[in-house]
Amino acid sequence: MASMDTLTIKTENKFRSLITKQAYKKGEVICEIPTEKVVNKPNRFTVQIDRDKHTNVGKLAALNHSCDPNVILDTEHLLVYAAKDIEKGEELSFFYPATEWEMDAPFICLCGASSCIHVVAGARFLPLSTLEHHFLNKHIREYMIELLNNTELHLRKLQEVE
Ligand SMILES: [Zn+2]
Repeated sequence: MASMDTLTIKTENKFRSLITKQAYKKGEVICEIPTEKVVNKPNRFTVQIDRDKHTNVGKLAALNHSCDPNVILDTEHLLVYAAKDIEKGEELSFFYPATEWEMDAPFICLCGASSCIHVVAGARFLPLSTLEHHFLNKHIREYMIELLNNTELHLRKLQEVE
């Protein structure tokens, strides 16, 4: 199985990024998502892998967010794979809301992509029309369905009152 040895952390002005030492073809597995330390709340070093399950991802915590990412974190199969062809020396990035429902530390994205979502706070805060353009993990899709059902229920209750 592919290991994280092909990945290296670059630090520039205290800003960390994850760089690949080798090229990948679209769809190729880059490494596994480590799950040795799972906690029930998100922090800067975790990735959400299920409801109330956030795993410390070691080196992968240096993965930055991009609205036009080159890797996908598949939390169901615990694999990181290439979303497009990646050159040796390229920075790896993924779409945080694909794994995170509600983030611990939201921030403003300046990635410059035409599809930039600007406020990165978790899938919960994004419209469906934005999310549908991205790979979303199973737990995120489940949360979305729940949110939609609750909204529908709420609307029905409002109509009943009228
Ligand atoms: Zn962006």
